Amino acid sequence: MFGPPGAGKGTYASRLKEKLGVETISTGDIFRELIKEDPELGRKVRDYVEKGLLVPHEVVVEVLKQRLSKIPEGKGFILDGYPRTLEQAKALEDVTKIDVILLIEVPDWIIIERLSSRRICRDCGAVYNTRFLKPKVDEVCDKCGGSLYQRSDDNPEVIKKRLQVYQEQTKPLLKYFEEKKAPLVVSKTTSLDQPPEPIVDKMIEELKRRKLV
Ligand code: ADP
Repeated sequence: MFGPPGAGKGTYASRLKEKLGVETISTGDIFRELIKEDPELGRKVRDYVEKGLLVPHEVVVEVLKQRLSKIPEGKGFILDGYPRTLEQAKALEDVTKIDVILLIEVPDWIIIERLSSRRICRDCGAVYNTRFLKPKVDEVCDKCGGSLYQRSDDNPEVIKKRLQVYQEQTKPLLKYFEEKKAPLVVSKTTSLDQPPEPIVDKMIEELKRRKLV
């Protein structure tokens, strides 16, 4: 799953997981868990995540390989938030084949609006928005009753940095994939309140057409 911060990568990946029974690996989620639960590794990544900068290559690849090794042989998986650099893409190609790139295109103004009002459930990770995807009860998750929180990197200054990092370090990867003729499925978001279902359904259609699911 490829696209700028706030494109909805996590939302689409979790729906594809439910509908297709595939595994998902979100490097962002892994780093947030490490910050909470692993004093040693957490200390190494905290500063980067809080500033909106990329975590150093060696750490990312180590963490990714660990998670990949837990996926049962033959089971499909979606990577959300990886690769983000050319170096990371090459490391991935050393260990697995990339079947398809699901690219999500979203204009910056939508990203900024969405991220600044995003809320996440502490318990199940469900994503809400205080403006257009409100929970039924303020600050409470509809699905599990958990409390909602705002990610510390969802503030205007860090959002700007994350967008800049995407433009400078991650987006150029598309050219690399293009040159390698990697299969690409493009989904476009054009409005703030666009529901995820039609996009997910179209992704599944494309995956079926390519005989990947
Ligand atoms: P978003 O895509 O909305 O920025 P993520 O949850 O994917 O959010 O990532 C949050 C942060 O975790 C990033 O800003 C970065 O600091 C770190 N991170 C996640 N994935 C990677 C990666 N593949 N390489 C380096 N840093 C990463």
